[in-house]
Amino acid sequence: MSSEGTKRLWETEPGRKTALAEVVETRGAEFRLDRTLFRPKSRAYRHPQRADGGTVWVQGGDKHDLVAVVERGGAIWHRIHGADLSAGDDLQLHLDQDQRELDSRAHTAMHLLLRAVTQIVDVTLVDDPEVKGGGRFRLDLRGWSIRPDVLAEAVDRVDTWIEQDVPVDRAYDPRDVAEHKLDPQPFEEGQPYPGPGTTIEVVRVDGVCAYPCDGTHADRTGELDELVLREADPRQEGVWMVVGEVPKPGRY
Ligand SMILES: [Zn+2]
Repeated sequence: MSSEGTKRLWETEPGRKTALAEVVETRGAEFRLDRTLFRPKSRAYRHPQRADGGTVWVQGGDKHDLVAVVERGGAIWHRIHGADLSAGDDLQLHLDQDQRELDSRAHTAMHLLLRAVTQIVDVTLVDDPEVKGGGRFRLDLRGWSIRPDVLAEAVDRVDTWIEQDVPVDRAYDPRDVAEHKLDPQPFEEGQPYPGPGTTIEVVRVDGVCAYPCDGTHADRTGELDELVLREADPRQEGVWMVVGEVPKPGRY
């Protein structure tokens, strides 16, 4: 068992909030599981999204906060506070569902704004688009035609797609097939369709955009409610730092 990978429940059962799992290996304070709910931060598709949060109950014992979940060399390592675990221990995992949903909505919004901006002006991506906490995401764009009114037009376009409540789907496609159907991302360094291997994950917003992505997403664009531009700061050499945000649940 220890040589096999951890089953990634966020891919196979994305709506799942709790799960039983078994410790298969420990290394110091870190441990691996046979299956996990907790998605680590990944840069494999150049759309980093912060790692999931949650809690872990040790069988017959206490509840512990998840401190970290990271992927190294294809293996997913967890760390919790104040528990000395051994291989064979049974755990109950509880996902922080509010955080996951907020990050998923922010990630979908990030795809939409990237698509809208690249439809309107020529830009390049100076850095990887990133989902931060609190419903926020960040794009670092370079383009001499970027102006506040251009960004406002892009946000209007995103809000229209949100109102249209478009379905968001995930597919696993062979790379050579996928590349014909994907929208390019104008990275300054590297190829426009990031992702490992010959099969890539594709997140498609029907009729709007399709990008390679291993992040989590809303099921439909209507779940985003709206997109707010939090920051749009011109830096040097035509670079703009753009921070977008989707509202948290219960704001109204
Ligand atoms: Zn993405």
